[in-house]
Amino acid sequence: MNKLYAVGLGPGGEEFFTGQARAAIEKSDIVCGYTVYVDLVKEVYPDKEYFTTSMRQEIDRCRKALELAESGKTVAMVCSGDSGVYGMAGLLIQLKDEYKDVDIEVICGVTAALSGSAVLGAPLGHDFCTISLSDLLTPWEVIEKRLECAGEADFLIALYNPRSHKRVEHLNKACDILMKYKSPDTVCGHVKNIGREGQEKHIVLLKDLANEPIDMFTTVFIGNKETKIYGDDIVTPRGYEKKEL
Ligand code: SAH
Repeated sequence: MNKLYAVGLGPGGEEFFTGQARAAIEKSDIVCGYTVYVDLVKEVYPDKEYFTTSMRQEIDRCRKALELAESGKTVAMVCSGDSGVYGMAGLLIQLKDEYKDVDIEVICGVTAALSGSAVLGAPLGHDFCTISLSDLLTPWEVIEKRLECAGEADFLIALYNPRSHKRVEHLNKACDILMKYKSPDTVCGHVKNIGREGQEKHIVLLKDLANEPIDMFTTVFIGNKETKIYGDDIVTPRGYEKKEL
């Protein structure tokens, strides 16, 4: 059986690669993916074969990886964070039946919600959800409904794809929806370029979040009603401190 690994590289450089990700890349003859991530791997494993594609060609990229695997190569398809979280592991599995004798193994990676949370302290100390504000593949009404429900249930929320040049208003609308349920003084944070050069962390209140310099390289964290600021960190207490010893 020919092998195709779907590998999440984590948020930044080599130090975030898991042992499993390294092992999969080492076993592969060829590494493919979007240029930025392929370049990251190239620095560490210069002697592999590489195949790069541009950002928006997801289906072509997956088909090419499957064709390479079908031809007998062991292939690693790399992406940022986790390959299944807003990533392409699912698409590879969906397309797999069209290719003979290809076995897909998904290798988990550190997703931005987790790596960003560590930069901010411990904002995800209780029940949380992730919501992507990108409506490229998901209707905006569905995103709004999820924001409403997450707000009503007072989930901690990690927002992916919070803002792009084309979608400047989405974060503002999301904040308005969340303020129907959460206090404007809810503690929030955002981290840009997690694990990369130019990493920046900011702690703000929900009422000020929409005016922050947030872009598509940022992950946003919205607290629940217990979330507090401790010095330079955010913590959502799980409640250990209330437990009688
Ligand atoms: N598969 C990726 C997510 C891809 S969606 C993962 O598991 O992390 C792209 C969004 O992820 C970005 O818009 C941003 O919100 C978030 N993201 C991914 N890497 C990031 C990083 N290094 N720093 C900040 N945000 C990041």
